[in-house]
Amino acid sequence: RQPDSPINISRPASRPVSPTGISQTRFMDFVDQGKISKSLLSKIPYEFCTEVQAQTIEPILSGSDVLARAKTGTGKTLAFLLPAIQRHLLEFNPKHGRPSILVLSPTRELAMQIEKEAQRVMGDSIWKSQVVVGGTNVNSEVLKLKGRCDLLVATPGRLLDHLQNYGLKFEHLRCLVLDEADRLLDQGFRRDLEKISKILSGESPATRQALLFSATISPDVQQIAQLYLSPKHAFISTVK
Ligand code: ADP
Ligand code: MG
Repeated sequence: RQPDSPINISRPASRPVSPTGISQTRFMDFVDQGKISKSLLSKIPYEFCTEVQAQTIEPILSGSDVLARAKTGTGKTLAFLLPAIQRHLLEFNPKHGRPSILVLSPTRELAMQIEKEAQRVMGDSIWKSQVVVGGTNVNSEVLKLKGRCDLLVATPGRLLDHLQNYGLKFEHLRCLVLDEADRLLDQGFRRDLEKISKILSGESPATRQALLFSATISPDVQQIAQLYLSPKHAFISTVK
């Protein structure tokens, strides 16, 4: 071999943290501890958790509200999907087929990506995810929502439309996720988020878990966090 070949550059003894913030925690560690079921992991192609996943999975599994700050591209989607699906679907095992988990997302594209990831994690279980987003036919969504929907991903404007005008109810909601909260506010969804909070607080169980994920936490994000999260929430930040 060539002594100066680039593939032979020696690595430092400690694992360097990659740009996506990979941690030393393995997904299998949670299975070994009986916290996550092996079937859920079968659809996850990674061995190591990212830093934010390593830190948020446990508090979410234990039912805490969580405010998490981590850079874009660090795996926040699985950081909430995996423990939320484990706790609220696998363990609680609801039979009603109505949304147990609701994820609010700033854009149609992100919402569709999250829903796809959720369906992948749920695999060939009985659990079903749906997505409702602006710019599509609302009547076909209403029809779709008459079918099974355990996890719903929505953009706030379209969700509000369903709540106010099409009779969508969340009587069985157990977990609400505000994903990319800073972007939700950038997109001008503040008023919608305030209205949604009011409507949901009137009809979902008071014990509902709330999770907020964001790349940045501005005073505006903090205000929304106050509206949705319990004062006793866990704060997790992987931003140094
Ligand atoms: P964020 O929401 O923080 O911007 P995403 O959840 O969209 O990040 O994930 C970014 C990318 O990282 C996706 O392609 C995702 O599949 C990948 N990813 C997620 N978790 C891991 C992991 N543990 N190891 C490697 N890649 C991961
Ligand atoms: Mg994200």
